[in-house]
Amino acid sequence: MALRRYELLQSAFSRFRRIVSGTVTKMIDARIIDIDVKDIRFPTSLLADGSDAMHTDPDYSCAYVTIKTDRGHEGYGLTFTLGRGTEVVVQACKSMFGLVKNQTTTQIYTDFASFWRKLTSESQLRWIGPEKGVIHLATAAIINALWDLWARIEGKPVWKLLTDLTPEQLVSTVDFRYITDVLTKEQAIDMLRKYEPYKQEREELLRRNGYPAYTTQVGWLGYSDQKVKDLCAKYLSLGFTRFKVKVGQNLEDDVRRCRLVREAIGYDNRLMLDANQIWDVNEAIGWTKRLAEFKPFWIEEPTSPDDIVGHAEIAAALRPHGIAVATGEMCANRVLFKQLLQMRAIDICQIDSARIGGINEILSVYLMAEKTKTPVWPHAGGVGLCEMVQHLQMWAYVCLRSSVEDCAIEFVDQQHEHFEDPVLVKDASYKLPTLPGYSTKLKDDCILNYTYPEGKKWT
Ligand SMILES: [Mg+2]
Repeated sequence: MALRRYELLQSAFSRFRRIVSGTVTKMIDARIIDIDVKDIRFPTSLLADGSDAMHTDPDYSCAYVTIKTDRGHEGYGLTFTLGRGTEVVVQACKSMFGLVKNQTTTQIYTDFASFWRKLTSESQLRWIGPEKGVIHLATAAIINALWDLWARIEGKPVWKLLTDLTPEQLVSTVDFRYITDVLTKEQAIDMLRKYEPYKQEREELLRRNGYPAYTTQVGWLGYSDQKVKDLCAKYLSLGFTRFKVKVGQNLEDDVRRCRLVREAIGYDNRLMLDANQIWDVNEAIGWTKRLAEFKPFWIEEPTSPDDIVGHAEIAAALRPHGIAVATGEMCANRVLFKQLLQMRAIDICQIDSARIGGINEILSVYLMAEKTKTPVWPHAGGVGLCEMVQHLQMWAYVCLRSSVEDCAIEFVDQQHEHFEDPVLVKDASYKLPTLPGYSTKLKDDCILNYTYPEGKKWT
């Protein structure tokens, strides 16, 4: 008994020492006392914004979580949804809150990986996942809120909180279960250590130049040819050099639209295609080859996000044509990402800030992408995805290297006005966020107007 108490004291002391000796110095021991979860929906389907081959009438939405503490600090997090079904994610967040309530910030942040595992491995809740689907979207919303809370307590934007962590501290937030055959904790620490001498210089470059963006705004599937043409002209004049177009519903339409876009942007700029999972494997290969004359840089989500072998076949068939395969926005978890990377089933890794289990799990994907030398071009758009993912890619730019060189973050110019700290994209670059947090706090009037179904815009 006495020995056990001695061990507990020792472990508490070493945690305390880790906090004060590292850069995480302002830890405030706050207890989590309550959660508020809202169903927020924007009627974007009215203008066909966001429409693609699979999602023809999306109402951009989110399950929005506010975590409250007894010291007055709050954290705001979300996961992105398309309208109907958001109520299911909201309920999942509420069901998980029992695992968060009464935890203290010290308990969570000094051993974040263990807390993350507790959240994703709860013996009854995990049955409705595990680590996939609605329950994992809820994990993302809660974990994102916890990172926002941590960054607010530290008084830093999330990217800065991440870059200020030592390699050991950063890696201590990641659950390595199921991925050690590709990447161990020790290898991750070594990788991060290698780049430490360049951190300051990299941060300066970011402050000066920001981080490149590419646009998807020009090519939603429901847009008329004239609108596509006008948008190409607009984004060219804003300095964009990389454009993405939705494809996959009708081949002749795709040929016409790709020609239209190429005529507008020329062949010096980059064109990417996105099929949003509509094809079978062989169909994906045939259809994309038919569009090869337009020199697409990549085909995104050519088939089911769960089909690792299928992606590998598509990638192998398209490589001789100089077309890369990209996916990740609907990849369920780090295990599927591991297999995509292991099998060279993707040439471009598209992490998403609200799909897998929040920052902790996303860090593991960045680290695996770095290890396998796979470029990371984050997925964004939706609600708050640009706001969040900019922090992650900027951390990667400072603390990792090869996987984020010559890449860009997706940019969709929608729903930013609802956030207190929206993204700032200028000269086709994301500017470095400066306010504390994860840029995820919605404005009060947005919540009043767009909460579903009782918000003013819906009633
Ligand atoms: Mg996409």
